[in-house]
Amino acid sequence: MTDRELINEAKKAAANAYAPYSRFAVGAALECDDGTVVTGCNVENAALGGSICAERVAACAAISQGKRSWKRLAVYANSAGYCTPCGACRQFLCEFAPDLEILCVRGDNRYVSYSLAKLLPHQFNAEFIL
Ligand code: ZN
Repeated sequence: MTDRELINEAKKAAANAYAPYSRFAVGAALECDDGTVVTGCNVENAALGGSICAERVAACAAISQGKRSWKRLAVYANSAGYCTPCGACRQFLCEFAPDLEILCVRGDNRYVSYSLAKLLPHQFNAEFIL
């Protein structure tokens, strides 16, 4: 799968976002090691703390399908800047894929690629508590 194909999956997922409060629709497409792609969109809630980001929706969907090994993640928003995962999502993702490649896409379809290790240095992980 090319970067562009993965990005297109993230863009399609963004169309399903439930974002009536922020009006900031985000889509995520997670490429698993088995070659499948699992997508997610952000889902907001009137109790704003109950909202969840597209990245974690995709990650939880993959985990619920027994897919815990991931290659790449594309995150798309129709934004001026490159859409990077928030801090909570970075921490969540590092539990399963500390070196995950993340394609951060903006509204004009341009993107930049980062490793999760770069976006979240000095990661807090199971080594600290097990
Ligand atoms: Zn997030």
